[in-house]
Amino acid sequence: MLKGEHISKAYKEQLVLNDLSISLASGEIYGLIGPSGSGKTTLIKVLLGLEKLTKGEVALFGRKPSISAFHHLGYMAQSDALYEELTCKENLDFFATIQGLRGRQRKERMMAVAKMVHLENDLQKRVLHFSGGMKRRLSLACALLHQPKLYILDEPTVGLDPIIRQSLWSLFHQLKTEGATIIVTTHVMDEVYRCDRVGLLQSGKLLAEGSPDDLLQTYQVDNIEAIFMREEEGVQC
Ligand code: ADP
Repeated sequence: MLKGEHISKAYKEQLVLNDLSISLASGEIYGLIGPSGSGKTTLIKVLLGLEKLTKGEVALFGRKPSISAFHHLGYMAQSDALYEELTCKENLDFFATIQGLRGRQRKERMMAVAKMVHLENDLQKRVLHFSGGMKRRLSLACALLHQPKLYILDEPTVGLDPIIRQSLWSLFHQLKTEGATIIVTTHVMDEVYRCDRVGLLQSGKLLAEGSPDDLLQTYQVDNIEAIFMREEEGVQC
């Protein structure tokens, strides 16, 4: 579904991704975890073909990433690509049209996704007056509209209060139950434990990869932060 091999990406002199390989298994929630600046967003962008690789190869749905792949995936970027002058409903309507939804199906999906992200009572509000968290939720709703099988979510829960965050994670698990595959980035460590598998990213390298339980066992630590600390201190496993 999504695979990257020996990916390197440099911006001028700075090597942001350093010979990194990643592969998503169908039906899993894969968490890309790492501190700010570790390269998560850059990795997402190269996997989508939005940034050119310096080295390596990416296969999205078995082929080189292209714009047509966006019809088959739900992408939520780190910065909200919303129209602030439009209302919540108008934004949903716009993105539903782009995704080719028509007639009754369009209306039904718009209402369904608004409910999923708890914005059903804010449909008539202009996005200009939305909080940062509401914008994140609307961006997520836009990514959910066309019921894709692959979701690529860059920091979907940043700036959200714990209750909404919890409900979005429940939603991700529900999507997975319905057959979706999800790659999600976060720097919030407690979200690690909600993923089936995680990749720990530091300075553009994948430090470790596996299920949260396996990682804790392999590294003999009580929490995932400790793996980052150990690697920083140069402790060999
Ligand atoms: P993260 O998502 O983990 O916070 P990013 O992928 O956004 O990390 O950034 C990783 C590094 O790449 C940072 O040092 C950032 O400044 C740099 N970077 C990202 N995008 C660009 C760009 N377009 N031009 C130059 N440097 C960039």
